[in-house]
Amino acid sequence: METLTNPTIASAQPDVVPVPSQTRVEPNPWRPDRKHRWTNGLDWPAVLWIVVVHVCALAAPFFFTWKALGIFFVLSWITGGLGICLGYHRLLAHGSFQTYRFFKRLIALCGALAGEGPPITWVAVHRKHHLNSDAEGDPHSPHDGAWWSHVLWLFPRPRDPDWQQMMHLYGRDLSQDGFMRLLDKTYLLWHFALGAVLLSAGWIGWNFYTGMSFLLWGVFFRLVWVMHVTWLVNSASHIWGYKNYVIDDNSRNLWWVGLLAYGEGWHNNHHAFPSSARHGHRWWEIDVTYMEIRLLERLGLAWHVIRKRKLL
Ligand SMILES: [Zn+2]
Ligand SMILES: [Zn+2]
Repeated sequence: METLTNPTIASAQPDVVPVPSQTRVEPNPWRPDRKHRWTNGLDWPAVLWIVVVHVCALAAPFFFTWKALGIFFVLSWITGGLGICLGYHRLLAHGSFQTYRFFKRLIALCGALAGEGPPITWVAVHRKHHLNSDAEGDPHSPHDGAWWSHVLWLFPRPRDPDWQQMMHLYGRDLSQDGFMRLLDKTYLLWHFALGAVLLSAGWIGWNFYTGMSFLLWGVFFRLVWVMHVTWLVNSASHIWGYKNYVIDDNSRNLWWVGLLAYGEGWHNNHHAFPSSARHGHRWWEIDVTYMEIRLLERLGLAWHVIRKRKLL
């Protein structure tokens, strides 16, 4: 066990994130100054996606069934917990463990169904966030406004050629996998397919009302929930909470985001040791995603698990 001079706050040398040399000119598709942030127009596909999903989610309470609520919880875990937290974040963005290619692709598909974009884009943006955290070039720092860091940063159209350069610099490794490129091109189709399956299952198995409840709770309300929980990691966990480690950014450990986001709310720990599969560093910092990784390890589905930190 590593010993620390101060049990509450400790200095930490941040890990190396798999990103390019810092001597390069950092492409920044989002202009940091507020005046120019919106002058490239809106990213209409992203805006429409987010608005439509939220509007449709409003209809969910009018089509409530207990079965649909169960589907909501299961699909929230599959797409948010396994897809985003375990898959996109700890596996694809940080390489916290290794697994079989088929499993990596399956988990990437679950992540794509969380509605937060295809894996190459998500990972590239996230790696850029780590390299420039709360400084110029961070795509979603609360220093540019709490709502900016939560959702607004998704609305302006990113500028080319900076966007292409950013994708090349930070997403190059994933782009070499044909399935990840396929997910890039077919991203929306998977959502339509899942929606069609849920609607048909409820309609054929019971009635139209049940089909609609499966669709609205299993797709739209679930997308809104998973999106906001993920976005809270970017916003709330850089605003509120405590620090275990003194590092160059404002990342915090926030208990309720830790619980909602399967352990991702122990964000100060994560920024101090980005490649570590373990985000919870104290005994009360419950980290469901790390428990899942340990289970996968026991099942022979995960190996070379990086554990930079033991419990303090
Ligand atoms: Zn962060
Ligand atoms: Zn990260």
